[in-house]
Amino acid sequence: MDWLEPLRPLLPDLASDDWARLARLDALLDQLTAPGPDVAQAVRSAYLLQVRQQLAGAGYATLTVPAAHGGAARPAVSQALSQFVCGWHDLDLRDATGLGHGALLLGAAGAAVRDRWLARLAAGDLVGIAATERHGGSRIQEITTRATLAPRGRWLISGEKTWVSRLGESAGWVVFFRDPDGRVSAAIIDAAAPGLQWEAIQPAGLAGWSWGVLRLHQAPVNPGTDLIGSPGAGLAVFREHFARFRPLVTATALGAAAGVHATVAEALAARVRVGMLPRVRDNALIALGRNYASLTAALLASLATVALGGAGDVRADLWARVGKAYGVETALSAVDELAPLVGAAGFTADSPLAKARADLAALRYADGIHDSLYRSGGKTLLTDRPEQVTTVTHLPVPSEQDAVLPTSA
Ligand SMILES: Cc1cc2nc3c(=O)[nH]c(=O)nc-3n(C[C@H](O)[C@H](O)[C@H](O)COP(=O)(O)OP(=O)(O)OC[C@H]3O[C@@H](n4cnc5c(N)ncnc54)[C@H](O)[C@@H]3O)c2cc1C
Repeated sequence: MDWLEPLRPLLPDLASDDWARLARLDALLDQLTAPGPDVAQAVRSAYLLQVRQQLAGAGYATLTVPAAHGGAARPAVSQALSQFVCGWHDLDLRDATGLGHGALLLGAAGAAVRDRWLARLAAGDLVGIAATERHGGSRIQEITTRATLAPRGRWLISGEKTWVSRLGESAGWVVFFRDPDGRVSAAIIDAAAPGLQWEAIQPAGLAGWSWGVLRLHQAPVNPGTDLIGSPGAGLAVFREHFARFRPLVTATALGAAAGVHATVAEALAARVRVGMLPRVRDNALIALGRNYASLTAALLASLATVALGGAGDVRADLWARVGKAYGVETALSAVDELAPLVGAAGFTADSPLAKARADLAALRYADGIHDSLYRSGGKTLLTDRPEQVTTVTHLPVPSEQDAVLPTSA
């Protein structure tokens, strides 16, 4: 909370109740001691689901959901701050609060399906997302999972999704597939529906939730009720969702790195207190100062992105893509620099520092691989350039006589 307090004047939409709720979340997570990363995955998974359900019972799942849908209608930025607090404790708590990928159902599902799933999410259920396929998650427009027509207007979906998280824990899946007309569409499928089968793979980080392959063998969908968005709107649904979801991921990652920062600072101070170190050397002081600045700057950018998304500003999409890549890289590089300052004590299998590093490395892939995000950000910056950008440059154009263009900017 010390890390977030200085941001208070910048967030006038948050009332003192919001800050008190954040402090309670922090205290609750302090009490709910996590089993270490070296215990069985099933134990961690059950623990994480239990934490989510407990926090949902205290209203943390539906904090930003509109009152008309049973939520507390708090500003979107309060969810980002909750994510930061969760990340501070453990990056595996990234789904402990909020709707997560279940937010896909809020804006774009039919009323009956939306209300049914919102009730489940409010009680602590999880909704997973199944988009990535073997040809590459960075090319969702090329997915091959396909729906075929079945009797009584039903669709049957078949295909294989890879590198999917929350496999055994999700109560439902938002699956991206080609509809019978070949357009990319999205639908919610209950995890208990026939035709779903999953196979776990051991990840090198973010191992709290199960992860691996989700296979669909003629999984039934009712296009009249189960579609997220209209038929063929899958890519737009995906983009809009991630414009809001990515800054939350980024805030969680930055929370994890800030937690490492605090742990390292305290360990160094304690070593001086007990006489293990005569003083803290300059390299450590510089690392603490620089990373405090870079983590805070990246957090501010992620909060600005959340605010843009909350206001329905189209620029949220660009900010979310480049901000996720930048924020997670900033978090990872901070942990890379800070963790060695306490030596090998931070490299044991059960060290939260080693865990944060492995989890942040996993986030370089999850929710968008970084070169792809930067590349698509660059593309947006070129194609959506406002006219005045060209009018304020003073470069000579090639048609001007004797003009010499610079070889690089
Ligand atoms: C911990 C974790 C959790 C995840 N959770 C989920 C989940 O819940 N649901 C889900 O659907 N997915 C999930 N993913 C998958 C994630 O979204 C993908 O890993 C990510 O989108 C990148 O896809 P990919 O791994 O297939 O890599 P690719 O898309 O194959 O990209 C690999 C590299 O190839 C590059 N590349 C792409 N095209 C070209 C080209 N033409 N020439 C040269 N290089 C190219 C990319 O830029 C990148 O550098 C998760 C991944 C991880 C690690």
